[in-house]
Amino acid sequence: MSQLDATVIATYSRRMRLRFDDGDEADARIKGKKLKPVCGDRVTAEPIPEEDDWLITAIHDRRNELARPNIKGQREILAANVDLLVVVAAALPKPDWYIVDRYLCAAELMDVDGAVVFNKIDLKAPDEEAFDVYRRVGYETLASSAETEHGVDVLSTLLTGKTAIIVGQSGVGKSSLINLLSEESAQRVAGISEKHREGRHTTVNSVMIPLEDGGNVIDSPGVRDYAPALESSAAAAAGFREIRSASEHCRFANCRHMQEPGCAVKAGVEDGSIDARRYESYRRIVITTEKLTEGRY
Ligand code: GDP
Ligand code: ZN
Repeated sequence: MSQLDATVIATYSRRMRLRFDDGDEADARIKGKKLKPVCGDRVTAEPIPEEDDWLITAIHDRRNELARPNIKGQREILAANVDLLVVVAAALPKPDWYIVDRYLCAAELMDVDGAVVFNKIDLKAPDEEAFDVYRRVGYETLASSAETEHGVDVLSTLLTGKTAIIVGQSGVGKSSLINLLSEESAQRVAGISEKHREGRHTTVNSVMIPLEDGGNVIDSPGVRDYAPALESSAAAAAGFREIRSASEHCRFANCRHMQEPGCAVKAGVEDGSIDARRYESYRRIVITTEKLTEGRY
């Protein structure tokens, strides 16, 4: 047998789990040191004679990358080819909409669609006002309870045929929702990692959990705690859909929408067409990013 295309569905240090397009799966190693496949990658692999392992020989071009700086300050890629970033907020812990905006901003910059889920509605009704803000900007919103399973079917439909990641503050119910979405397959993936774990002390980097109706959720501690970092404060405006479109009418092409004259974004906040709280998130991101990037230039 010769080369085949496959998707990386689990990474374990330099070991990978592959799913071929016909649904078959295999373990794989990587050819050379330069290739660094991540979950969600499309790769070319070839069988290794007299072994069960396959060899990954090439990574196909990525549509997008979920990346963040690691402890050493290097850019670490967590996942690739993501279609949808689902941000979960909940009745408890108290929603931090700034965090939600930060995630949506990062999704926008990666060219990944975003959605907002309000979980634990068995404890408290969703914040309709906050929902409205996101709906007006064009994000899908939905309410759920991992306790009563209300809304989980809607979430499942939203994920059909897509590769998604589920992010949000700790304790909002991400793991509970992922488990409900994929009860049986989650155990199967855990089985794979068990096998790989023998005699080693590292953990699975990330796994792609297939959902019942097609589609996948990429999950790992790194993905769940994913905190996006921006390269520059100028990028922030591109991450807010409503700010990006209003900025076309600013007097200055390099307007930062902070206090420049003739700023269409500030005008939008004043006339209510841009939500003041979203704008405040934008400002916070700009200020934080400028502090972080200060001195780099
Ligand atoms: P994660 O940190 O976002 O992965 O959150 P978990 O899934 O670990 O959930 C945190 C806690 O909230 C656990 O004790 C869950 O049982 C609980 N929990 C999750 N979803 C719900 C929900 O919809 N309603 C209620 N009442 N509790 C929930
Ligand atoms: Zn402006």
